[in-house]
Amino acid sequence: MAQYDYDLFVIGAGSGGVRAARLAAELGARVGIAEEYRIGGTCVIRGCVPKKLLVYGSRYGSELLDANGFGWTCEGVRFDWPTLINNVKREVDRLNGVYTRTLEAAGVDRFLTRAVLASPHEIVLADRDGALSAKTILVATGSHPVMPDVPGREHLIGSNECFELERLPGSIAIIGAGYIGMEFASIFNGLGVAVTVLYRGDQVLRDFDTDLRDGLAEAMRNRGIDLRTGIDVASIETAGQGYRVHLEQGGSIAVDLVMAATGRAPNTSGFGLGKLDVALGWNGHIVVDEFSKSSIDSIYAVGDVTDRRNLTPVAIHEATAFAETLFNGKPTPVDHSFIPTAVFSQPEIGTVGLAEEQARELYPNIDVYKARFRPLKSTVSGRDEKMLMKLIIDADSDKVLGCHMLGADAAEIVQMAAVALKLGVTKAQLDATMPLHPSAAEELVTMRHRWEPPAPVAGSDAAA
Ligand SMILES: Cc1cc2nc3c(=O)[nH]c(=O)nc-3n(C[C@H](O)[C@H](O)[C@H](O)COP(=O)(O)OP(=O)(O)OC[C@H]3O[C@@H](n4cnc5c(N)ncnc54)[C@H](O)[C@@H]3O)c2cc1C
Repeated sequence: MAQYDYDLFVIGAGSGGVRAARLAAELGARVGIAEEYRIGGTCVIRGCVPKKLLVYGSRYGSELLDANGFGWTCEGVRFDWPTLINNVKREVDRLNGVYTRTLEAAGVDRFLTRAVLASPHEIVLADRDGALSAKTILVATGSHPVMPDVPGREHLIGSNECFELERLPGSIAIIGAGYIGMEFASIFNGLGVAVTVLYRGDQVLRDFDTDLRDGLAEAMRNRGIDLRTGIDVASIETAGQGYRVHLEQGGSIAVDLVMAATGRAPNTSGFGLGKLDVALGWNGHIVVDEFSKSSIDSIYAVGDVTDRRNLTPVAIHEATAFAETLFNGKPTPVDHSFIPTAVFSQPEIGTVGLAEEQARELYPNIDVYKARFRPLKSTVSGRDEKMLMKLIIDADSDKVLGCHMLGADAAEIVQMAAVALKLGVTKAQLDATMPLHPSAAEELVTMRHRWEPPAPVAGSDAAA
C-alpha cells in the first residue's frame, strides 16, 4: 500500500497550481488539488483575461474617433456596460470549465474547498474531517490586493470588484499608479468615466524605464485623465450617492467610486505555514530556492506566493520547472531572465530587459537609442500622440540589454523582441535585419544614431 494518499497535493488552482498538477499527473504522479474559490485563479477569473477583454472593449471609443479622419461617420454610437461585463463573465465561465476539464482529463482529484497544512505531509480540507497525506505539497495560493490603511478604507473597491460592477460610475478616483492602476484608469477613461489618479510617488509605474513613465503620464493626461502625483490620501467618506476623498496636501475630490490599486501581498496567512515554521520573507512571501523548494523539504511553492516576478507566464514557468524536477527526473532551475511584460494602458507599454537606469548601475558603458515619432495612422486620424521606442545597449559587447516601447501593439511587438534578447542579439544584428515596411516595429532595426544626453546649460545646477 502507498505510504501517502498522493504523490503531490497542490494548494491553489491558479496559473501555477493547475500547470504543476496537470504536468505531474501526466507524468504518472497521483495528484490532488484544492481550490477555495474558482479553478483558473486570478489570471483567468479576475486578472489578465477579463482585464484584457475590458481593455479591448474600452478602446473602441477612441478607434471610432480616429475613424473620422479615414472618412467614417459614426452616428448614434452608444456604449452599454452590462453587455460588455456580461460577455466578459461568460468567457470567464467558459475558461473556468476548460481548466476544470483539463485537470479532470489528466486524472487530478479536485477539491473545491480551502486547504490547510497540518504537517509537512498532511493537508486538512475545510469541507471534511480527517487529513489527506502527500509526499510533496505545492503551495500555489497566489496573492491578494492590499488596501491602503486610511480612515474610510471600507469604502474602497479593489480590482476584484471592478469585474462585478453592475453599472459604470460617472467618475472614479484610483489610488495608486502601478500597472493595474494605469490599466484600469485607461479602461474607465476609454468607457467615458471621469478618472482621477492619485499617487504618492513622483511618477507613475515605479521601476519602469523613465522615458516610458514620462511618456505614458503625458499621453494619459492628454487623453483626459486627471493624473496627480505627489498626493497622499488622508481619508475617504461617503458624500451623497458617492464619496469624498480628502488629500493630505489639502483639498478633496468628490467621485462616484474609489478604487485602490496599491499593490498585492502573498497569500501566506491562515493556512498553517506559520505553525510549520516555513521560512517567510519581508512581505510574508514563501522563501524558495531555484527549484522552488521552501525551507521544509516536502513543501514547494510557485507563483505570486513566492513574490519573484508576479506574472502569469512566470508562475507557469516555475510550475513547469517544478514538475520537470520532481516528476520527470530533469532538475530544472527557474530562469527569470528577459521576462517581457506589458501595461495594457492607452497607449500601451511593452518592455523587456533592463531599464536605462538599471543598465547604468550594472554596466560601465551604455549606449541608448531612442525614436519618438508620430505613427503613420495618426497622420490621417489626427491623433496627437507620439510612439516611443528605446533600446539599451552594452557598448562593450554590443548586446541589447533592454527594449522598451510605448504605443499601439507594443505588447505584441515586444514579445518577439524578447526572443531576440533572450538569444543575446547585438545591435549590429538588429541593424542587419531587413525592416518590414511600413510598420512601427521597423524602427527597432533602423535606429542609427546614439542618443546623447542634452549638454548641461552654462550656469545651471547641472553644470556646477
Ligand atoms: C487585475 C490583474 C491583472 C493582471 N494582469 C496580468 C497580465 O496582464 N499579465 C500577467 O502576466 N499577469 C497579470 N496579473 C498577475 C497574474 O494574475 C498572477 O501573477 C497569476 O495569476 C499568479 O498565479 P498563481 O498561480 O501564483 O496564483 P493565482 O492565479 O492567484 O491562484 C491562486 C489560487 O489559490 C487559491 N487559494 C488561496 N489560498 C487557498 C487555500 N488555502 N486553499 C485553497 N485554495 C486557495 C485562490 O483562490 C486562487 O484561485 C494580473 C493580476 C491582476 C490582479
